[in-house]
Amino acid sequence: MIYDVIIVGAGASGLFLGANLKSKKVAILEKNSIAGKKILASGGGRCNITNRFVSAKNYLGEQKFIEQILKVLTPDQVLKFFSELKFSEEKQNQFFCDSGAKSVLSVLLKRQNADIFYNKEVLGAKKIDEIFEILTKDEKFRARNLVIASGGLSYKALGASDIGYKIANDSGIETSALAPALVGFSVQKDEFWFKELSGVSLNADVEINSHKFSGDLLFTHRGISGPAILNTSLFWQKGRICINFLPKFNEKNLINGKKQLSSVLPLPKRFVLEFLKNFGLKDRAFYEFSDKERQIIKRLFAYEFAPAGTFGFERAEVTKGGIKIEFLDENLQASNIKGLYFIGEVLDITGMLGGYNLHFAFASALKVARVLNL
Ligand SMILES: Cc1cc2nc3c(=O)[nH]c(=O)nc-3n(C[C@H](O)[C@H](O)[C@H](O)COP(=O)(O)OP(=O)(O)OC[C@H]3O[C@@H](n4cnc5c(N)ncnc54)[C@H](O)[C@@H]3O)c2cc1C
Repeated sequence: MIYDVIIVGAGASGLFLGANLKSKKVAILEKNSIAGKKILASGGGRCNITNRFVSAKNYLGEQKFIEQILKVLTPDQVLKFFSELKFSEEKQNQFFCDSGAKSVLSVLLKRQNADIFYNKEVLGAKKIDEIFEILTKDEKFRARNLVIASGGLSYKALGASDIGYKIANDSGIETSALAPALVGFSVQKDEFWFKELSGVSLNADVEINSHKFSGDLLFTHRGISGPAILNTSLFWQKGRICINFLPKFNEKNLINGKKQLSSVLPLPKRFVLEFLKNFGLKDRAFYEFSDKERQIIKRLFAYEFAPAGTFGFERAEVTKGGIKIEFLDENLQASNIKGLYFIGEVLDITGMLGGYNLHFAFASALKVARVLNL
């Protein structure tokens, strides 16, 4: 049997495509025994499905190219597609599903126009004459069109594999460097005091190059994480970042008062004490510190350091880098191989934290659905 379309991967993009393809013989080949494992894990199980404001600026990658993909799907249209579910708009305009990620996945499965084959790990694909042959461990599938929706390398436990990049490279399509992103940072010796604060969270501004992210920062047993750090990781390769632990506190307020520093600063007491301990200082009123010590305390407004690395692909929400856009046409079809498409995270397009990655997975799928439905 020859399918009209075979999709590799029953994740966010593959399922959305399968749900939007009309009257075609479509199959999805999925490595796992269930679909959408990453969807189930998304947004801490609550699935941050989209954002009220989505624009190319929320993504790393070729801006003009991203813009024309985003045009096919507005945030309202995402919510409309899932209209039987309720979503709440939370901080930073993120939409979360009230009934959880499980119900998002249920809707995607209910709307399928594709047959899903589970436990089918795709090992390779090639086009022979006009037909794609897709190889799994125990079976060969044939299709006129092949859509790679196999995602990135992050969270192997949820099904990630490098098959998308492999099929691309075997087809003469290049990929840019891959790196874990939306991920926490491990720390060097000078910042080992962060590890003592595991579980503490606070609000901070984090700067990297010319980008600034405000939001929660979480200390972990390995270093730092939390939304502000995850966004920073998108722009980090190596080198320094700068944290303002006191974004809303005026430096002048340090000088007044006779209270101990830990009572004056709007920071968790445990944090202030650990900070002081690390620099060999006692918890005293600001006026009692020497000039040199005051300079150390002022580092709380601009704490610069170089992370040791990231927590790696195993803990990264997304993979930065991927299939190079210049090898595709505006419909995400390979320029050199008619009928071969790439959608979702496998592309060299990466969204910030806030529902942008799922939104892009859906938009890129719809872009291809429109072409295949013609
Ligand atoms: C913990 C976590 C939380 C997240 N939370 C959010 C969030 O709240 N909001 C948001 O916008 N984004 C979130 N993301 C990112 C988002 O989930 C992904 O960007 C998105 O799922 C990418 O969609 P995709 O279809 O490209 O890939 P995926 O959803 O990863 O789907 C790829 C599918 O392909 C399958 N596959 C891989 N290799 C093969 C193979 N060789 N053969 C057959 N099948 C294969 C995989 O098993 C998987 O089912 C989160 C990610 C993680 C890890």
